[in-house]
Amino acid sequence: MCEFCHRHGEGKKWYLQAQNYSEDLLSDLTRRRLIETFIGDPEYFRKALGMLEALSRLPPYVRAVINPIAVKRQKRLHYGQVVPIEELERIFDFVNSIVRLPCLCRQATVGSEQRHCYALSMVPDERSQLIELVRSVGSSYLTGPDIGGLEVLSREQALVSLRELERKGLCHTVWTFKTPFVGSICNCDRSDCLAMRATLSMGYPMMFQAEYTAEVNHDLCNGCRECMLVCQFGAMGYGVARERVIIDPRRCYGCGICRASCSRNAIALHERSSVPLAVLA
Ligand code: SF4
Ligand code: SF4
Repeated sequence: MCEFCHRHGEGKKWYLQAQNYSEDLLSDLTRRRLIETFIGDPEYFRKALGMLEALSRLPPYVRAVINPIAVKRQKRLHYGQVVPIEELERIFDFVNSIVRLPCLCRQATVGSEQRHCYALSMVPDERSQLIELVRSVGSSYLTGPDIGGLEVLSREQALVSLRELERKGLCHTVWTFKTPFVGSICNCDRSDCLAMRATLSMGYPMMFQAEYTAEVNHDLCNGCRECMLVCQFGAMGYGVARERVIIDPRRCYGCGICRASCSRNAIALHERSSVPLAVLA
């Protein structure tokens, strides 16, 4: 279990606790201001990228002092966790509104609108304070002058589109806005997603591994290596002698994207807590 499960989930998966999506949490003005800044300032992400790059260039001894303080603050404000698709199904069992939005990371890194983010709420869209907030800053948030980019999806529509993103190799994540409030699902890759880039390439963690880790069934695997093409985390290797793929459970983030790419159903996810090597990660 990650530290959020202990702090915000009473030892259970924190992102499956309905109270962490509660509208009451949105009455907190500091949280509302954080969300407004996040989605209302088009320069916010470019500035964040610049700061992360500057941080990564500092001498190691300076980073050793600054990083823990900065990451602790990050965990209070905006932090994520990788979640496989079956966990999203469980989240969709209790949320009452799913709204697809353009991804702010991609606007900063690629400069184009990519609809890879999903805002969640416990109340229907028309009563959701979160959607009201997004609409109130909509003209600057979206690339165009209108707010037509907000798409209300049913549970089934959302799952179809998320499975499609999974087939493209994108990894599902859940995100807090002033922890423990969970406001959105994102779909990340290490090239365009700032948080994944910071976590994997800049030594500045912004997301936990999933509560799962993947394993290959060598009786089913034929060694085609298709799965290795989609792992964003460098967790897979190819055993030449056995002609099979192997997964390092310490590096595996448990996203399940490799599983979606395997036509032989040779990859399964297991609870991280049941895999001793993964627990040590
Ligand atoms: S895609 Fe499936 S069959 Fe191919 S190497 Fe990976 S686990 Fe094995
Ligand atoms: S091995 Fe599979 S589940 Fe683990 S991080 Fe890579 S793609 Fe995700």
